Amino acid sequence: MKNWSGNVTFGAAEVVCPTSVEEIKAAVIAAGRVRALGSAHSFNKIADSPDVLLSFADFPKDIEIDATSKEVRVTAGVRYGELAVALHAADLALPNMGSLPHITVVGATSTGTHGSGMGNQNLSAAITSIELITASGAEMTIAGDQLNAARVGLGALGIIHHVTLKAIDAFDVAQAVYFDLPFENLINNFDAVMGAGYSVSAFTMWSELLVDQLWIKSRADSDELPGAEFFSAKRATVKSHPIAGAPTESATEQLGSVGPWHERLPHFKLDFTPSFGDELQTEYFVDRKDAAAALQAVHSLRAQIAPLLLVTELRTIAADENWMSPAHGRESLAIHFTWKPDLAGVTAFLSTLEASLAPFKARPHWGKIFSAGAFDFKALYPQFKPWVDYRTNLDPDRKFINEQLADWGI
Ligand SMILES: Cc1cc2nc3c(=O)[nH]c(=O)nc-3n(C[C@H](O)[C@H](O)[C@H](O)COP(=O)(O)OP(=O)(O)OC[C@H]3O[C@@H](n4cnc5c(N)ncnc54)[C@H](O)[C@@H]3O)c2cc1C
Repeated sequence: MKNWSGNVTFGAAEVVCPTSVEEIKAAVIAAGRVRALGSAHSFNKIADSPDVLLSFADFPKDIEIDATSKEVRVTAGVRYGELAVALHAADLALPNMGSLPHITVVGATSTGTHGSGMGNQNLSAAITSIELITASGAEMTIAGDQLNAARVGLGALGIIHHVTLKAIDAFDVAQAVYFDLPFENLINNFDAVMGAGYSVSAFTMWSELLVDQLWIKSRADSDELPGAEFFSAKRATVKSHPIAGAPTESATEQLGSVGPWHERLPHFKLDFTPSFGDELQTEYFVDRKDAAAALQAVHSLRAQIAPLLLVTELRTIAADENWMSPAHGRESLAIHFTWKPDLAGVTAFLSTLEASLAPFKARPHWGKIFSAGAFDFKALYPQFKPWVDYRTNLDPDRKFINEQLADWGI
């Protein structure tokens, strides 16, 4: 069995598909080592297990909406696209979405998956309760202050069967794309450019002078899209894909057309293959105050980046308190790379890229490719040690630890 990209072959000896909480308990008690799989969209071996892998393919897909409290309780296995449609039907929304709706709520929040927007925290911030089976087979509900340790849990705290999220009122979004933003204009006006809408993404091939595309998603009830020209970038009059030249039907509607939040906040539609398909991904989070310097550092490597790159996306994420969130304690810029599927070439280049971002204390995305040895997580995450202690207390025999997590010092 492989992950979505095909670059990871899972090594689990057995895949078990529970259909109930009781079956999860039994599987956890019986297994030596066990982990859960979401939609397998991570690019590293974070979801793998040496022994048993639990798939939620046969688990009920329940979405329980409480219209009064505006909370929604979902089972593991529910994907963001499915949740979004159900919430919208109840006139509710999520504050933000990742670039694709295909990922599961539990799998995505477990790695700190995020969208963009100066005021938008990563997707896990919406979690108000987590229900899981611990290593001993006990049922546990995590709520209140302990959620800071558990929202981004890397699958290492237990097998989650339900999470509850806080929703907000449904809203409409207008999306427009702007071409050819001068790189100098981006770095000299970073907050103004990236704050030009509710959610803004810049797509670049790191050419010497220009950032190729700026995708601006504005809330129809509060912001207005910029006009025909924005910091010298020109508003597109034809639909666009983040990777220039790729077919545009998979992309969500643009050209300023207003639509519901869940049909504009992701870049890709649920019923199409997202992104490019045959690709690898890497992403690093730096403090937004270092945005200009960090972007210049990467820009200086553009000749080495070019042969490997499909596209880079730049996004902003609001700070949060979650111990293992890449945006913990700092307003963040995420510098993302969609690479061609050249694993050897990409891996060889990453040490250069990571060294260029080390002065900015860059934190890697937990679900993407990075060089394990290049990051001192104790130094990068002030709550790393308390999180490891919290985890060890729940799972002293390391039932939920795989080789990937051990490589990261967990
Ligand atoms: C095309 C593409 C686009 C992407 N876009 C974005 C983006 O916009 N923003 C972003 O931040 N990331 C993005 N990613 C990365 C992706 O969001 C993360 O890798 C995410 O974790 C994948 O979710 P998943 O459901 O596939 O989880 P998996 O990859 O299957 O698992 C991720 C983690 O969750 C754990 N887990 C899953 N289910 C459970 C459970 N029931 N109990 C306990 N632990 C569990 C797993 O053990 C693992 O540790 C993208 C990936 C792809 C392939």
